[in-house]
Amino acid sequence: MCINIAAILRFSLLDYPDKISAVLFTQGCPLRCVYCHNPDFQSTNVVNNISFDNVIQFLNTRIELLEGVVFSGGEPLLQTNLYDAMKIVKDMGFLIGLHTSGVIYNNFIKVLPLVNWVGFDVKQIFNKYSDITQINNSEIQVMKSLDALINSNVKYEIRTTVDTRYISQKDMVNIAKYLNSNNVKEWTLQKCILRSKEENINVPFLSDDNISELAQYININVR
Ligand code: SF4
Repeated sequence: MCINIAAILRFSLLDYPDKISAVLFTQGCPLRCVYCHNPDFQSTNVVNNISFDNVIQFLNTRIELLEGVVFSGGEPLLQTNLYDAMKIVKDMGFLIGLHTSGVIYNNFIKVLPLVNWVGFDVKQIFNKYSDITQINNSEIQVMKSLDALINSNVKYEIRTTVDTRYISQKDMVNIAKYLNSNNVKEWTLQKCILRSKEENINVPFLSDDNISELAQYININVR
């Protein structure tokens, strides 16, 4: 079974809400987000030496210790064998989490029935999506995936990294209205930190007044 895994986080309390999980970071992403926190995982030309067999061996030692396994990235939907990998892990008794941009719709709807929880990125209001992703028309598949998620029975979190260099308050209000009109009840806003080997730079976040304005439309979580 071939799935390109760049790294494993063996223990996490942060990546699957209220569950103890391990995180598998897959290699490759079709987007080029301006703030990407995992640029080493973007290239599809990198082949890593973490075999799926090794992952399964590790997970076998964690049955009843971990509750979930989260597929993150990179973009997990780029892995053509994602469904098969998730099925094997699910059959071991783990809950399946997925962190995704939703940018590959066909694979998203294929794996969705296996997934227990999705952390779904909405990166910008859709008519300005490429301001963040730097890929033209990336919003087309994302919108379809988001619609499929909202209309499924799968638990999810919609989250946005608020890079105020590229997202205005007006954009944020428009996203809030869009989510509200699509029956999304909660929206998680993530502070944008630009990480490099030399330093971490905190991009200025929204003011309390900004957040209050958004909260007129949808419940807001900040982290
Ligand atoms: S979707 Fe994630 S991994 Fe891909 S470029 Fe954007 S931030 Fe980086």
